[in-house]
Amino acid sequence: REAAPESVLNGLDAEQRAAASALTGPLCILAGAGTGKTRAITHRIAYGVRAGVYDPHRVLAVTFTARAAAEMRSRLAALGAPGVQARTFHAAALRQLQYFWPVAIGGSLPQILDYKIKLLAEAGKRLRMTTDRAGLRDFASEIEWAKASTLTPEGYLAHAGQREAPAGVDHQAFARLYQAYEDLKEDRHLMDFEDVLLFTVGMLESDERVAAQVRQQYRHFIVDEYQDVSPLQQRLLDLWLGGREELCVVGDAAQTIYSFTGATPEYLLNFRRRYPQAQVVKLVRDYRSTPEVVKLANTLLADRRPGGDAPWSPPLQLISQRQGGPRPELTELADDDAEAAWVAEKVSEAAEAGTPLSEIAVLYRTNGQAQALEQALATAGLSYQLRGSERFFSRPEVREGIAALRTSSLVADDSADSVPEAVRGVLSSIGWTAQAPPSAGAVRERWESLAALVGLAERLAQERPDLTLRLFLAELDERSAAQHAPTVEGVTLASLHSAKGLEWEAVFLIGLCEGLMPITFAQSQRELDEERRLLYVGITRAKTRLYLSSAAARHPGGRGRRKSSRFLIPLRKELGLEQTTRRIAPGGGKLSPNAAARSRKAAVCAGCGEVLTVGTQISRRRCADCPPRYDEQLFEHLRAWRRGYAKELDTRAFM
Ligand code: ATP
Ligand code: MG
Repeated sequence: REAAPESVLNGLDAEQRAAASALTGPLCILAGAGTGKTRAITHRIAYGVRAGVYDPHRVLAVTFTARAAAEMRSRLAALGAPGVQARTFHAAALRQLQYFWPVAIGGSLPQILDYKIKLLAEAGKRLRMTTDRAGLRDFASEIEWAKASTLTPEGYLAHAGQREAPAGVDHQAFARLYQAYEDLKEDRHLMDFEDVLLFTVGMLESDERVAAQVRQQYRHFIVDEYQDVSPLQQRLLDLWLGGREELCVVGDAAQTIYSFTGATPEYLLNFRRRYPQAQVVKLVRDYRSTPEVVKLANTLLADRRPGGDAPWSPPLQLISQRQGGPRPELTELADDDAEAAWVAEKVSEAAEAGTPLSEIAVLYRTNGQAQALEQALATAGLSYQLRGSERFFSRPEVREGIAALRTSSLVADDSADSVPEAVRGVLSSIGWTAQAPPSAGAVRERWESLAALVGLAERLAQERPDLTLRLFLAELDERSAAQHAPTVEGVTLASLHSAKGLEWEAVFLIGLCEGLMPITFAQSQRELDEERRLLYVGITRAKTRLYLSSAAARHPGGRGRRKSSRFLIPLRKELGLEQTTRRIAPGGGKLSPNAAARSRKAAVCAGCGEVLTVGTQISRRRCADCPPRYDEQLFEHLRAWRRGYAKELDTRAFM
């Protein structure tokens, strides 16, 4: 006999239970990291479904990342509530666009453009604006901000007084570029990621039939990580709701880390003002991390300077429910390579002691920091996966692999169960081997990408016995549109931004020095507050082991010296953190002979694998012939001009 629906509430504490059994909205769960917010809403949905209050097909749960969505779907299935839609805003919007576009707009849906920079460069050329790639990245993120704030080029100009233009141009020139980019995109029948949301908003606003049908489809809305919702996403949510109040939001203002893209915690903090009858539940017990880790997180938040104008609530002190645990370690290394070699050494130790690699993450501020780590881990024979590598589906080898699979699906018989075998076969025709190559660099990267496709085929075939090659390709298309890169078993390398909501047994936070954490361009109190929150997010990802590290210089020999991060001051002082200072001299020092050899091997181009002779000009560990990857410094493009946002304009509109 099936267990009573209430059994779903077992394993929740009193407050979580109160939240999970409040099946009608509006409901707001406000709580710190690791307190079980995501768990509470997952159980709430399952309880609603099992109790017969929710039709699973009428529930839309919105998560921040595709991975979180997949996790929620599988937890719901395990709790006896399959069939619920758990998606990111983008994925949910894209589905609606795909479905309704032919009826509402007609013709085919524009293709998704995942390489904004190229089109922007073209738009710039048309206007005879010359700029380097860093400039183009600045423009791209400014356009992203403008669109997330629902500002057209004209609207952007109207707000020009309240926001600095990107470096090197004035507002007029930027608005012209923005318009030229939009025109070019339209001419080519393309859409960017913001368009996915904008078009959906437009469709729902202009076509009553579509709006009615979408509202008929979804009755219950749940939004996780609500502190980082943008005005555009909020508008979409409002359109979905259409005045109804069946809404449950969950968030932690202290984890607002995307305000540079236009996201704002104000919707979360003002929820009660908008819905005076809303129930608000607060959770304070932290189930994720040990008391040692929690103490560190609390200290970091408590130390924030008064006077910052960031609208985050007074920090809720977390109370750990776990016992004991090792003290977090702080280690200072001589340079970036030494730091990467040290991480690889520690990871090997942890793996030998029985921690699965999938329970270890190395988190950093800028994607550019991953290069040295990739090299060190590959040299140590440790497998890893890059998160936040949104460009997975634009990698040449992935495109080539998918094209080969598509060709093969046209000729192969499309019967279900040995899809993985077929995928392995097709990919080996383009040079993939089952065995990983021993080297780091481009060869290894190519192998890892293709291995990720094979791994995905294996996992999907297990989940769906009826999987065919064609279905697999359809899944790849959907993931490509949602930027949902497949995962590989291995150590996770991720930017702090993309680690949100996730947890690991052991977490390394590297590069804790001035210039990286906080990042150089964070100058105002508001920006520094956001850096502090980012570090808070990083610390609270750790369940048991936490390693903090910094490198005293960028390059061997002490070139590019850096000061240790200001955020470490209260952590050291308040907690008397164990500080192991290991300054590693070139060619030995305290490093084991192996590790020293590994760090010497670092003079290998990460692009082509060529061993570089002493004196060769290398920038970011690549030789002159190998340009750095576009995704390398996803967040580094933010400049000081991000000060003085004009967010108030849009975010307060609905209050
Ligand atoms: P974040 O702010 O980082 O997103 P969160 O508040 O969403 O964190 P969860 O991810 O839901 O927290 O939970 C953190 C961890 O604690 C998870 O491993 C979860 O399974 C566990 N946990 C939460 N509540 C309980 C509970 N009542 N009993 C046991 N474990 C729990
Ligand atoms: Mg969560």
